[in-house]
Amino acid sequence: MMTTPEQDRWSRVKGRLRTSVGEDVYTSWFARMDLEGVQEESVRLSVPTRFLKSWIQAHYAERVLSCWQAEMPEVHRIDLTVRSAVRPIVQKEAPAPVETRRAPAPELRSTATAPVSANHDALGGSPLDPRLTFASFVVGRSNTLAHAAARQVAEGRRGDPVMFNPLYIHAGVGLGKTHLLQAVTWAGNSGNERKVLYLTAEKFMYGFVAALKTQTALAFKEALRGIDVLVIDDLQFLQGKSTQAEFCHTLNALIDAGRQVVIAADRPPSDLESLDDRVRSRLAGGLVVEMGSLGEELRHGILKSRVAAARAHHATFEVPEEVLTYLARAITHNGRDLEGAINRLLAHSKLNSRPVTLEMAEHEVRDLIRPQEPKRIKIEDIQRVVARQYNVSRSDLLSSRRTANVVRPRQVAMYLAKTLTLRSLPEIGRRFGGRDHTTVLHAVRKIEALVSKDTALSEEVESLKRQLQE
Ligand code: ADP
Ligand code: MG
Repeated sequence: MMTTPEQDRWSRVKGRLRTSVGEDVYTSWFARMDLEGVQEESVRLSVPTRFLKSWIQAHYAERVLSCWQAEMPEVHRIDLTVRSAVRPIVQKEAPAPVETRRAPAPELRSTATAPVSANHDALGGSPLDPRLTFASFVVGRSNTLAHAAARQVAEGRRGDPVMFNPLYIHAGVGLGKTHLLQAVTWAGNSGNERKVLYLTAEKFMYGFVAALKTQTALAFKEALRGIDVLVIDDLQFLQGKSTQAEFCHTLNALIDAGRQVVIAADRPPSDLESLDDRVRSRLAGGLVVEMGSLGEELRHGILKSRVAAARAHHATFEVPEEVLTYLARAITHNGRDLEGAINRLLAHSKLNSRPVTLEMAEHEVRDLIRPQEPKRIKIEDIQRVVARQYNVSRSDLLSSRRTANVVRPRQVAMYLAKTLTLRSLPEIGRRFGGRDHTTVLHAVRKIEALVSKDTALSEEVESLKRQLQE
């Protein structure tokens, strides 16, 4: 009942897009693209931010269109819109029962959140979701440290010494970065003693650019400096030289004034290729915490808390333990899919007035179950594993030494960095002791040529790949 032909088609189009651009690009730009509707020759899609919209239009418009045309040749136009921050959780495809909308649950719109929100909005902050609080954040092995650090920041009082600055949290898509950052914002603002401002990198950019245009850049900077905690989400989207200069300036001003800065991004500071070295090192100078993938136990806990939240409005909604266990095991990808799964079960059981069963769950969430994501491999891991294999040190690999026993391992490591990560040649060069991209290219070609002839080397390379992927 919940899968219309339109929805099936949309799933296939997304599948094509994912294959065509690769998993990383897909999750960066398209994971939050939704289908709004199809009308004769045109398809309406939406994304949550203006920035995503302009980026997709500038770089992927053709690609998106051709993926649609592969499924529906009559489509000739894609209309991309920005949807508002507060929108129904149940995807458009499902005829959304009014009760399951993403609107704040009444008990969450408590006396505390309303003034926080008003204050925060007045400062020009990005929209906050009232559900993303510490109370609803489930702590597990992969996020214990990030959670503790975030709590510490949120509980700080004006004038307290700042323990780690900035607090930099990185993790893949859907692992709870935004949830944690917004929790800090809600909690930090609730005492009304401190001002915590939550901005997406996009908002920072547009806010600043807009302020420049109206010549109130100074006022904007002053406003930023008047806050106690600056929270910036999705820093990887910060683009443009002047924005970065401004960001760097703001960061320094805040940190030097003893104000707290909290940042989230999808990668560690060292991998933020477009930022310049000074900013990168400033970012790395505080506490950098990674949140790992959600373990099964954590996924189970998140599902449980989602069901409990849903039950506040739908007292009859019950999800048997065996279904939770199944979902926690089957959906390995990210928190958004967990949320989606519960929403579907809720919508389904409401629409059909039927209890949730394992069979129904298997059917409803089948498209959320994806093969295990390939592990994200880091350049440091490659250097470490290669160094160990060839019995040289990692600093040998980064050094300028040109003796044969170092040159070959170094080339192998660069080759692996190019084939197993999405890093660009200049970036790889930089990470190998500041080498030129042509040196990296040379190494890659060299090893490519050798593995096709030299079976011993080719086996060695395969074994290194296996060690890295396990
Ligand atoms: P990110 O910003 O890292 O992409 P989000 O914070 O948007 O991820 O999380 C995606 C979804 O998963 C949200 O619905 C969020 O509430 C949920 N989620 C992720 N981690 C947790 C957690 N530890 N506890 C509760 N919910 C979580
Ligand atoms: Mg996020």
